[in-house]
Amino acid sequence: ASGYSLLRDPHHNKGLAFNEKERDAHYLRGLLPPTVISQELQVKKLMHMLRGYQVPLQKYMAMMDFQETNERLFYKLLIDNVEELLPVVYTPTVGEACQKYGSIFLRPQGLFISLKEKGKILEVLRNWPEKNIQVIVVTDGERILGLGDLGCQGMGIPIGKLSLYTALGGVRPSACLPITIDVGTNNEWLLNDEFYIGLRQRRATGQEYAELLHEFMTAVKKNYGEKVLIQFEDFANHNAFDLLEKYGTTHLVFNDDIQGTASVVLAGVVAALKLVGGNLADHKFLFLGAGEAGTGIAGLIALEISKQTNMPLEEARKRIWLVDSKGLIVKSRLESLQHFKKPWAHDHEPIKELVDAVNGIKPTVLIGTSGVGRTFTKEVVEAMAALNKKPVIFALSNPTSQSECTAEEAYTWSKGRAIFASGSPFDPVEYDGKVFVPGQANNAYIFPGFGLGLIMSGTIRVHDDMLLAASEALAAQVTQENFDKGLIYPPFKNIRKISAQIAAKVAAKAYDLGLATCLPQPKDLVKHAEKCMYNPAYRSYR
Ligand code: NAP
Ligand code: MN
Repeated sequence: ASGYSLLRDPHHNKGLAFNEKERDAHYLRGLLPPTVISQELQVKKLMHMLRGYQVPLQKYMAMMDFQETNERLFYKLLIDNVEELLPVVYTPTVGEACQKYGSIFLRPQGLFISLKEKGKILEVLRNWPEKNIQVIVVTDGERILGLGDLGCQGMGIPIGKLSLYTALGGVRPSACLPITIDVGTNNEWLLNDEFYIGLRQRRATGQEYAELLHEFMTAVKKNYGEKVLIQFEDFANHNAFDLLEKYGTTHLVFNDDIQGTASVVLAGVVAALKLVGGNLADHKFLFLGAGEAGTGIAGLIALEISKQTNMPLEEARKRIWLVDSKGLIVKSRLESLQHFKKPWAHDHEPIKELVDAVNGIKPTVLIGTSGVGRTFTKEVVEAMAALNKKPVIFALSNPTSQSECTAEEAYTWSKGRAIFASGSPFDPVEYDGKVFVPGQANNAYIFPGFGLGLIMSGTIRVHDDMLLAASEALAAQVTQENFDKGLIYPPFKNIRKISAQIAAKVAAKAYDLGLATCLPQPKDLVKHAEKCMYNPAYRSYR
């Protein structure tokens, strides 16, 4: 291979970090300026460059460029600066990137499978250069963050999520495959955008949709085997629950919006109880939003309550109430409810407004999963604060614009008493001379370690107990020092250690359940997880 192509191969390029010997051996003389620098100095330089950009989208585009130029440097940059760069490669910036994907699109990343490829999906998979795939993140773009239908431009999400699988969970980049399934879009704005990159038609539904997805799922298993993890991401709820149920018994599938969110929020709730007191079963939960995130979290909380107390699931569910766009979910609405809402229809008179639901139900924990910003109004937060000494408030909707309230609002309106976490990051807030550091209930705490645990143990099916195990592992990582600052999640800078702990607990559960196929079981699963993790340091070429 020529030196010139080596410099243009992102998997092998080291840029100015090629040393003298490598420059001689690989025909690089003259193709690089004379200086040789370390990977550390390269990271420093790129951070300097990124910090020079004022506009978040420019930072995003620069990051994509780094990824396409020098993969190891990209991952080292991301790992060493995870707190600063997570909001760039993930929410909130990735949301804006998806909205404008058509206009900023230069080079395709990931695999696009559209209705045009019907009947040929296996061939399409074979066009991908890597053969040993361990994780696929797939979207159909219908519910990107809280931004709605972004069609084919949802591709930013699988790409972003998989870069976190590598950076935070240590899955090899070559084992990760981002996929967007394009069945059209109902987004008028995109359909009329001359730069839109997807099919210009309304979404296929019903049988046509089901057939394409079935062909895809079958082709994936045929091409990559039983142990490839398929993460469904940002599907609309009318497909998400059905896909998870349909393929849960035949494939290794995981829906991050339903299951990953549930695990990360349960961990935060469990940690919050250290500050608030009481057991899970002593608390009452009210959700705004009864979709994938809301009912997913509710389901896992109920499962944990029933395990902790030996209470029947039915009984545990009665501590949990949900409000959707039509108001409180109650028995009298049962007939007309989507199936995933039915378990939450309890006896109560109908209530329309959230604030009335807060006053009627008297929750100790309020969780926003509506995708609609500004819905935790001053009245709502004040009502929570009037009912509770330390109201627990999660405003989970992403990106920042859709957050149910800001961190500042939560602390100010509760007079500094709220235990607050959000989906998108907020800066620390000073209130009454005290600094409050809001927690971020970011799914990135769970899915990378969760996936690593499945992969390293060769697990063939996901089980709810694994979600509980991941949750417990995450909550256990919150230190007294974190609690003293009011934090209910550990800082992201230790995320690779946290991911290894989660991976170990998930794998242990998989071995217990007889779902792991990598035998014999390693003695020390944490050490094993750490050993399995991808390290972005340069290799030397002789
Ligand atoms: P989804 O399945 O579409 O559910 C949205 C739910 O919100 C539906 O039940 C909907 O009601 C309800 N809703 C919409 N507008 C409402 C309003 N004005 N008042 C009350 N309820 C309203 O979406 P999802 O997957 O659950 O995601 C929801 C949000 O959570 C998104 O913004 C997403 O980014 C965020 N999220 C955050 C995290 C995290 O922080 N870790 C993880 C996952 C998702 P109907 O059913 O009546 O239509
Ligand atoms: Mn998602």
